[in-house]
Amino acid sequence: DLMNNSLDAGSVYAAMDDQPVVQYAISQGKNYAINIDGEKVGSFAFAVKKGSKYEYLIDEFNHAFAEMKKDGTYDAIMAKWLGDSEKSDDKSSVVTSSSLKLTGDASAKATPVKSTYKIVMDSSFAPFEYQNDSGKYEGIDVDLIKAIAEQQGFNIEISNPGFDAALNAVQAGQADGVMAGMSITDARKEIFDFSDPYYTSNILLAVKKGSFVKSYEDLNGKTVGAKNGTSSYTWLSEHAAQYGYTLRAFDEASTMYDSLNSGSIDALMDDEAVLRYAIKQGRNFETPVDGEKSGEYGFAVNKGTNPELLEMFNNGLAALVKSGEYDKIVSKYLGSSDEKKSTSSSVDETTIWGLIKNNYSQLLSGLGTTLSLTLISFAIAMVIGIIFGMMAVAPNKVLRTISAIFIDVVRGIPLMIVAAFIFWGIPNLFESLTGKQSPINDFLAATIALSLNAGAYIAEIVRGGIEAVPKGQMEASRSLGISYGKTMKKVILPQAVRVMLPNFINQFVISLKDTTIVSAIGLVELFQTGKIIIARNYQSFRMYAILAIIYLVMITLLTRLAKRLEKRLK
Ligand code: GLN
Repeated sequence: DLMNNSLDAGSVYAAMDDQPVVQYAISQGKNYAINIDGEKVGSFAFAVKKGSKYEYLIDEFNHAFAEMKKDGTYDAIMAKWLGDSEKSDDKSSVVTSSSLKLTGDASAKATPVKSTYKIVMDSSFAPFEYQNDSGKYEGIDVDLIKAIAEQQGFNIEISNPGFDAALNAVQAGQADGVMAGMSITDARKEIFDFSDPYYTSNILLAVKKGSFVKSYEDLNGKTVGAKNGTSSYTWLSEHAAQYGYTLRAFDEASTMYDSLNSGSIDALMDDEAVLRYAIKQGRNFETPVDGEKSGEYGFAVNKGTNPELLEMFNNGLAALVKSGEYDKIVSKYLGSSDEKKSTSSSVDETTIWGLIKNNYSQLLSGLGTTLSLTLISFAIAMVIGIIFGMMAVAPNKVLRTISAIFIDVVRGIPLMIVAAFIFWGIPNLFESLTGKQSPINDFLAATIALSLNAGAYIAEIVRGGIEAVPKGQMEASRSLGISYGKTMKKVILPQAVRVMLPNFINQFVISLKDTTIVSAIGLVELFQTGKIIIARNYQSFRMYAILAIIYLVMITLLTRLAKRLEKRLK
C-alpha cells in the first residue's frame, strides 16, 4: 500500500510487483500501466520453516491441493479472482517458457520430406532477427529456428527479405516457412497454418523523446509510420479515421526508425519487444501510451502445406523448452546484463562479519542519509524553535497565540502522519489541482516533517528555559530603563541558555532516533537500509543487532561531543 501510494502521488516513478497483483490493482481501477515485459521469478508455493515441527503441513497441503485440482476447486478459485482472461494474451504477458502453450512432443521426431526447407524472415527486427556487426543475421528467431532444425534433424536455408515480402514468399510457395515475429491473428489463420506460439508481444506507439504526443488523440493531423503487412499497420489503419492521422507504410524498420528520428514522421508503431529493445540500445524514443494487444508469435507455413515442418517445429520447440535452451536463447538477447549481479553474492551472510562485509557500502550510505537528515533538520528546527519559543514569551498576545497554535498542532499530530501528509497528501492535492507532479521528494518531505516536529519541541524548551529565569530579573532590568530586547539578550537569555542546553542535546538524540520513523515514506536511511537487506537475506537478528549498535555508537559519540560543547559554553 505504501508503495502504491507513492506511485499514485508520483513520488516514485515506477514500481515492481508480482504480475497478477499489479493486474488486479489495475482491474480495480488503479491508473497504472505495465509498459515492460515481466521478469521470471517462478511459481508461488506454500511454505513452512525448514526443519520445523510443521513440516507435515507440506504433505497435507500437497495432498489437498492435488484433490482440489482434480475436483475443480482450484480452477474455481482462480477463475473467481483472476477471471479467465488472465491466462490468454494479456497486455503485459510475461514471456517465460512456462507460459507457452506447447502441443509438441519433446521426445518425438518427425521425418523431413524435403532435403532443405526454405525459411524466410524479417530483415531488421531486433532482437528477433538483425544483422550483427559482421553482417550475419542473429537474434531470437534465428537462434530458435536453427536450434529446432538441429534438434529435429532437418536442414534449413534462411533468407531475410523483410516482413511483408517474407509473408508473400510463403504465400506464393517460394519459401516453406516464415519465422519473423509473426503474430497469430484470425485473419492470418485463413491463409497460414501456425505453430504453437513461441513468444508474446503487444504493439506499441513510439514518438521522439520530448514529443508533445501523449495520447492517440494528439496524433490528429500527424503522420504515423508502420511496416507494411504488420499488425501495427492493420491497427493503425483501423484507427486512422478515429484519430485523424495519416498512415505511412515502410518496407522495413531501419528507414522507419530513422524517419522518426529525423522528424519526417511524428510517430510509429511496432512490436513492443522490438521497440523496447531499440530504446534500450539507445534510440531516443519514448512510448507515451499503453500497448495494444497483438497476440502471440508463431512460425507459419502456407495453409495446408508442409505439415511435417510444423510438427517438427512444435516438437523441437517443446524439446528446447524442456532442455532450458529456449530460455537461454531468449535471455541471451533480452536478459538484463546485471542478471548475474542480482543473485545474492557468494559471501556468507549468516554471520555478522559476512553481513557487514557484504553490505557495508549500503549501510554507510544509509548512515550518511540518517546523519544529514538529522543535522539539516535539527539546524532548521533550532531556527523554528527559537523563533516560536521567543514568541511564546513575548509581551504581545498575538505572537503568543500564533506560537501556541503552532506548537499544539505539530505536537498533536504524530510525526509519521506529518511525514505522510507532506509526502503523499500534499502532492496528491497538488496534482489534482495543477495536474503537475509535485516536486517534493522523500528526503525533502522527511526534512520538513522532522524540522517541524523538532521545532515544536525546541520552542517549548526555549520557552521553558526563559521562564525558568526568575521574573524579578526582567522587572529589575526594565525598571532601570533597559529595553525588552536588550534585557532578553544581555540578562535573560544567557541564564536561560544554561537551562536549555541539556534539553537541546536530549532533543537532538530524539531527532536522530525519529529519522527511523520517516523511513515509513520509503526514504532509505539507515533503518530502511537494514530492512531492505533483511528482506533479501532474512537475517533479522544479526542485522537488527548491527543497526542497534550503529545507532548506539553514533548517538553516544554525538552526545559526548555535545556535552563537551555544553561545558565550554558554560
Ligand atoms: N508481430 C507483428 C506482426 O506480426 C510484426 C512482425 C514484424 O514486424 N516482423 O505483424
